[in-house]
Amino acid sequence: MVPPEATEEDFNIALALNRRYWAYPPYGAAILARSLKNSGYAAAIVDLNYEILSHVFEKPHEFSYEIWKKALGKSLESFRPDLIGISCMFTMGHMNMKRVAEEVKRLCDLPVAAGGVHPTNAPEAVLRDCPDIDFIGLYECDQSLPALFDVVNGKQPETELSQVAMLIGGDFVSFNERTPPKLDEILPPDYCELAIGKYDGLGQVGTYRFMRENRTAASCLAVRGCRAKCSFCSVRSFNGSGVRTREVVLVVDEVERLVHDYGIKHITWLDDDLLFNEMRATALFNEIIRRKMNLTWDASNGVIAAAITPGLLHAMVESGCIGLNIGIESGSPKILQEVHKPGTVDSFRKAKYLLAAYPYLFIKGFLMMGFPGETLGQMKETVNLALELGFDWYPLQILNPLPSTEIFGSLTQDCGSVIANPGTGGWMAGIFQSLNLRRREESEKANARKFFDRLQGKDLDIVPSKEDLADLWFLMDYKINYEPILDMENPVKLENKRKILRDICDRISHANALGNLFLSLTERKLRSFAEADRRMALAKQFLDESDYWQKRFAVFGLYRHLSGCEAKAV
Ligand code: SF4
Repeated sequence: MVPPEATEEDFNIALALNRRYWAYPPYGAAILARSLKNSGYAAAIVDLNYEILSHVFEKPHEFSYEIWKKALGKSLESFRPDLIGISCMFTMGHMNMKRVAEEVKRLCDLPVAAGGVHPTNAPEAVLRDCPDIDFIGLYECDQSLPALFDVVNGKQPETELSQVAMLIGGDFVSFNERTPPKLDEILPPDYCELAIGKYDGLGQVGTYRFMRENRTAASCLAVRGCRAKCSFCSVRSFNGSGVRTREVVLVVDEVERLVHDYGIKHITWLDDDLLFNEMRATALFNEIIRRKMNLTWDASNGVIAAAITPGLLHAMVESGCIGLNIGIESGSPKILQEVHKPGTVDSFRKAKYLLAAYPYLFIKGFLMMGFPGETLGQMKETVNLALELGFDWYPLQILNPLPSTEIFGSLTQDCGSVIANPGTGGWMAGIFQSLNLRRREESEKANARKFFDRLQGKDLDIVPSKEDLADLWFLMDYKINYEPILDMENPVKLENKRKILRDICDRISHANALGNLFLSLTERKLRSFAEADRRMALAKQFLDESDYWQKRFAVFGLYRHLSGCEAKAV
């Protein structure tokens, strides 16, 4: 079972119709389906997120969130399983995982398991909070789940049990020994009856829709794990240390099946270290070129800047790369060192130099803020580095420590409190961050809180409070993503800005005065005058309606770009 992404309380039909919710084909569940089938067990996948999203598009005016319960009940009737597994990737999915387990137990008395990154990160807290979950499959369950079935069926001794956690008589018991699949044991996914070609039409698959036009996307995984051990990242605690690669030919076979069976024309790699091993990565991209699949792809999960070489980059572009996310996180050498980032300011500069040869490639730099002890001065270093690198866009996240990470252990939080307040962890949580922003805009429309440029202050050694981070986030986002447009003249760079700003203004955000102003300025620079005027009118309208935007426009000195609008006192 794949639970719905958003809870009923948070679900918003307009956002769904704008394809703002994630709609990734359930890769992990499909891997387990393949493993179980190979071991002689029947398996089916029920994607309740897909059920909800497709229902919105089919019947937007008669939409009922409860549709997932009907789909669940129907699938139990038709498949008649012996066990239900619920997949959960992020902490934000905790509530829906719990509700799916409750619903299963309401309908039948079957054992319920949960698995995925979130239950693995905090198994005891999950079990204590979710009485309807009987056990948790820890880490990658390709081997351990079929082994568990074999043990239950008496085909293997109990000593084969691994990677399982449960409560016995109220005590937490966990078999932690790992049995990850080795190189030749990593199987391709089996999506069972799922309509993989339809997912992209229902929501977000990757983060480059604005670059790929109508090319239908799906995801693929070439390697598991990451060579690095960033203190805020849970990849190592889930996948173990190091990287396990798959044979290049088998990976491209999987891509080819997506192309032929489902009409997929764009791949978003799920890899955490796609460029691991230069020879292997180059062979992967060359094999895609050799098979002439007319494919584009993006690396939404991010690549390590230091791994980019001229030869590899050439193969990436030739094989269809259109968008690349680079993990930077901070411009402060001290923070990069403290969080064990596999990159230095110099390695980011070298990547910039190599990437300059491919201006049509859309480059995003992942940034983070709010590290423990991070000062205003260090945030300013991040802004300065971003401006120096000049990448096309910088997704900026406020640090949200995930259970099981080193940084989480260094803070005074417990897993239970994170489950109660899931926050917005991980790059896939962008929608929750923008939802929070939108809520704040709405609530401050009539009377916004004071806003000022804290990075202009004299004392940059101050460590801002948690409450200050939201405004600092806005400030940094403005300085690194919007302000550079004012001096930008390169038409290729402007075209990239135009594409992402259109996506932001028309699909991602609502009544966005800042986005529409900068889209107007971009359109004008690209000599698209009618569209520039239209966007300017929208910017003025949204500005006029909102004290939230007025305060920010005044601080950023943006009224001078709006003829006929006067700055209001802040
Ligand atoms: S490089 Fe990326 S995937 Fe690897 S540990 Fe760091 S944050 Fe995680």
